[in-house]
Amino acid sequence: MKHDEFIRQANLLENYVEKYKAKTSQYVRKWFKLEGNILSYSLRERLDARSSAFVDSNLVFTEKDPNSLTLAFTFLNQSGKRKNWKLKFASVAEYTEWNKALCISRRPIWDPESVLKCVECDRNFTFFRRQHHCRNCGRVVCGDHSENRFLLEDLAYDEPVRVCDTCTKKLS
Ligand SMILES: [Zn+2]
Ligand SMILES: [Zn+2]
Repeated sequence: MKHDEFIRQANLLENYVEKYKAKTSQYVRKWFKLEGNILSYSLRERLDARSSAFVDSNLVFTEKDPNSLTLAFTFLNQSGKRKNWKLKFASVAEYTEWNKALCISRRPIWDPESVLKCVECDRNFTFFRRQHHCRNCGRVVCGDHSENRFLLEDLAYDEPVRVCDTCTKKLS
């Protein structure tokens, strides 16, 4: 198992980002911070967060445009209200860095290796029937039930990765 694959983004990313304000149809400069799975913004650098989003697979990208350097996504806030944020970055480098960090934060937490049975077929793991992790949901499955590979770009993978049968149905 490649250990680094389930380590989520732990480092901090912060800088000014233009955030679209639907009421006025204008972009407003905010100080954005991504720390682990918490994305938040404040009016200026180092002020208390005005609003925040929890980044996991429930955060769904609705627009990705490297040409206009914009990234839009939808998520549910703490009160279960659907929010849509649209961000515009200052450079291609910034856009790429934020896109990648958000995608890594969307990755599922992997189930522990102490799991004894495949969640798909309920058979015990053995020396010959080995454990694998579905990169899309993080559950532990056997090889027979994770034969498919998908390019999960919104989870920051740049090559096709192992996906369980349940996720294959969702993604197909
Ligand atoms: Zn199985
Ligand atoms: Zn899965």
